[in-house]
Parts: sequence; structure tokens; C-alpha cells
Amino acid sequence: MKYRSTRGQAKNYSFEETVMTGLSPDGGLFIPHHIPVLPANWRQKWSKLSFQELAVEILSLFIDESEMPRSDLEDLVQRSYATFRHDQVTPLAKIRDGLYVLELFHGPTFAFKDVALQFVGNLFEYFLERRNREDKSGKTHRLTVVGATSGDTGSAAIYGLRNKKNVSVFILHPKGRVSPIQEAQMTTVLDENVHNLSVEGTFDDCQDIVKNLFGNKEFNDRHHLGAVNSINWARILAQTVYYFNAYFSLLRELNIDPASSQAEEVNFNFSVPTGNFGDILAGYYAYRMGLPANKLIVATNENDILYRFFESSAYEKQTGADGNVKETLSPAMDILVSSNFERLLWYLARDAEVDGGKTEVAAADSSVNEKLCDEAGQTVATWMQQLKEVGSFKVNDAVVLNARKVFDSAMVTDKETLDTIREFFDKPGQASYVLDPHTSVGVTAAEQVTKRDQLLAYPKGKEIMICLATAHPAKFSEAVETALKSAPGFDFQKDVLPSEFHGLLDKERRVVPVERADPKLVIEVIERELRGEGIQF
Ligand SMILES: *Cc1c(COP(=O)(O)O)cnc(C)c1O
Repeated sequence: MKYRSTRGQAKNYSFEETVMTGLSPDGGLFIPHHIPVLPANWRQKWSKLSFQELAVEILSLFIDESEMPRSDLEDLVQRSYATFRHDQVTPLAKIRDGLYVLELFHGPTFAFKDVALQFVGNLFEYFLERRNREDKSGKTHRLTVVGATSGDTGSAAIYGLRNKKNVSVFILHPKGRVSPIQEAQMTTVLDENVHNLSVEGTFDDCQDIVKNLFGNKEFNDRHHLGAVNSINWARILAQTVYYFNAYFSLLRELNIDPASSQAEEVNFNFSVPTGNFGDILAGYYAYRMGLPANKLIVATNENDILYRFFESSAYEKQTGADGNVKETLSPAMDILVSSNFERLLWYLARDAEVDGGKTEVAAADSSVNEKLCDEAGQTVATWMQQLKEVGSFKVNDAVVLNARKVFDSAMVTDKETLDTIREFFDKPGQASYVLDPHTSVGVTAAEQVTKRDQLLAYPKGKEIMICLATAHPAKFSEAVETALKSAPGFDFQKDVLPSEFHGLLDKERRVVPVERADPKLVIEVIERELRGEGIQF
């Protein structure tokens, strides 16, 4: 399998180059040359596999054996998911008849980003070790990962990269503006290769500094910067696994024989709390590979650029209150634009090249028409240029109609988020479940779509909803406590807080203060810390 850029100027990248490069040189994102075909009888073959075994089957469709022998992939996958607390890795929990949550928060930092980042850390280490083994020049291949965080990505990246050979990680967070739990999760990791930079400034300042460093060719050449945000293809790829895993869990739950036609016809939807569109994009790949999901529901909070796109065919940065991101109770979804949406746009553009977007181009097609792919790349590049210059672009209505065959969308307010958390905690006649605010957005969106489109909810009708639970509620204590403070019998310590969090706030920390949001100062700090690790450059 080779990879190409969404903007058409780069192709034939190996998986290794794709993962180690992150962003394509033309500014686009990497996508596979074609979407692979599932093996015949995949349902029967895969239905009884463990999460890890299933991961190897799916990942090997995207990673050639010549790039990574199967036994190495197996080892990598085993190590990546050994850090999870649940033996099924991403179990499916029923919260009401026909309504399930896919719990993605059993990794080390209690959020779904662990599923991808535990794997990505091992991939980086694997490729660097091999380069160093094969390169006889005596030079050491290293990666310096630099990222900005408002909370979630930072801790998952740190836990994915801690203690990895030839990798140093620098995570910038805005001083005093990260939730106490998240700050403690990041800064109590004391491994030598982990550096938390606490910057006087806002999250946007941190992000601007990181962009500046990536654009600084000399600095980049000297330190080989690596990215761990969800533009990295490996993150998307790792996430496709749990969509398949959820499907098999559902068949088991409903006692459906995977070999039967019923398995093909079971009517299920995924609702995905969405920010940068990475998580739901993985679902789209699973769907294009042949997973028989009905709809993928893009659940947004009030930062709703994606919801508005599906309503209006226009992708438009919000303009209210001087165009700033709105702070909501689901902060990991507070975005102005969604970086991974560009990948979906490429597929929509290519389908439109064929017949104006009336049908999807045969999904699992390895003999893709290169001319159509090049044209799609040009279309995406034009759209992205417009977005940069005027803050918006519009696609043909036919393109959105085509997308809506797979996608549906709903926007959820903070008030609705809180109401839903309450509803599932103490609804009479149903087991109590504590949703985190992000998951609550997904559950609320699923309910709104069911009502709006007059779907027949399970068990009377056939619509089953699987909502992706992207974080453990203990990580977002403020929203959960606000929702449940007056619920009879609610006790945060007892009902929500996992034992791993006990005493976390009092543990030893290591943080490097950065007094000004200034790229030059950050470069000084990074180089000082690298020397401290004993690295020469
Ligand atoms: C990152 C994150 C999201 C959004 O995921 P995307 O892949 O950016 O769409 C949702 N919920 C939580 C808890 C997250 O950490």
C-alpha cells in the first residue's frame, strides 16, 4: 500500500514515510492510494478474534509485509494494547434497549486518543530503531515531537511516547488553563524524554508557537520534528479497528450468527463526538471497506462548522464574537475548523468527478483511476485555498447529498449535554450510567437524529445506536458535577473517580516554565532540555 496527498502533489509514499512525515510537503494530508478489499468471509473469519488479533488483520491491509513483517506487527500491537485496563480493550456497554456506548477510555489516560497514540509511539520507536540499525554512517536517527495541548492530546501523547528510544517529546500547555486532573496527568510523568512546557499565554499562543517551529526549516532539520496530532495517518488507521470490533460485539450481544444474512442486515449507526474529524473519519474508512454500518452521525457541540456543512453545503469558519472558538463543556471538541475533514473532502471530490457525486466510486477499488485522483487533489487544493483566503468555500449540493448517504449530523448545546448526563444517571427503570460531556454530546445527537428523521428506534423498529464514549467522566469532573450535583445519592468520589486518580494531584511533577509565549524562548528551552537528556546536535 502506498500513500498520496489530498492536494495531489505527492504520491507513492511508503507507510513508514507517511507516518514519519506527518503532513505532506504540499500541505495536504496522506491517504491510502486505494481502500483495501476485505477478505472473503471476513465476518466468519474475524468474528471471534480478540481486539489485538483483529487489529493485526485490519492494519496489515494498509501496511505491506515488506515494510513490516507480520510477526513485528503482532508484537507491536500486543505491546500497544497491553497498557489497557479492560481485556476487550474497547468494550461495548448497553445503556438502554438499542443504545450502546463503545467505551474507548480504558487506556492509560482515560480517553480515546490512547487507542491510537499507544500504537503510534511504538511505531515511531520501531522505525527509528530500524533506521539506526541499517544506517552504518554512525549518525543517530531521532525524532523530536512537539505539540500544543489544551488537555487531552497532550496527556495521551505523553503516555504514548514516554520512555521510547530516540524520541523526545515536548508538550506546550497554557499555564493554569488546563484542568487540574489533565495537568497532573501530564506533569507527573517523570521519564527523561518527556518535557512539559507551561507557557504564559493561551492555547492559541501555544499552537502558534508549534506551527512556527514546524515552519522553521533550520530548527526542523536539526531536530527532525514529529507530529502526533490527528493529521498523522497512523492515528486514523489505528482507530478503524474499534469500529469492526464494535460490530462483532454487537452481533454477539444480539445473538446473531456472523455467517447469516441477518449479520449483513442488522441496522446500526455510529454517533461520534467530533472535533477534528479524526475519530469519525476512521469510521468512514471502515464503512468504505465494507462494514455494514447504516449511518455515521457527526455530533458537534456549538462549534458546529461540520454540522453547518451538512446543512448548507458551505464550509465556513464561524464569524460571531470575532471568530473565536466557543468554550463549551466538551472542550476536546472546541475547534474552528476540522483538520481531518480534508481527507473526507478528497473522497467527496473524487466521487463528484465521476457523475457529479451521485454515487460513490467503487470503494474497495485497487485499480483507481489516477486521473480522477489527480483532479480530486486539485479540487481539494482549491477549496483549501479559498478557506485560507476568505474563510469559507461551498461545494455542489450534489456532493453533500452524496455525503449524506453515509453521514448525518446534529449540534448539541451545553444545556442539552448536561440534561443528557442527568437523564442517564437517574432515569427510573434503567441502570445508571455516568456519561462524560463529550460522550453525552454523541448520545444526545443520536437521540436528536432518531427523532428528526423519524427513525424507528430499537427494539420496536430496527435502528441501533452505538455512541462512541471518548472519555472517562472523571476527566471532566466540572461538567459531570454540575450535571449531577442535585441528583439524589450522587457521589463523585464513589460513583466516578477511578482508583488510578486517587492521590494524582499530590504526586511529584516536572514542568518547565516558559515566561513568554515566544518561539525563540521555546527553542532555547527545547535545546537546553535536549542537552540535559545528553543529546548532541
Ligand atoms: C479528541 C477528542 C474528541 C474529538 O475527536 P476528533 O478525532 O478530533 O474528532 C472527542 N472527545 C474527546 C474526549 C477527545 O479527547
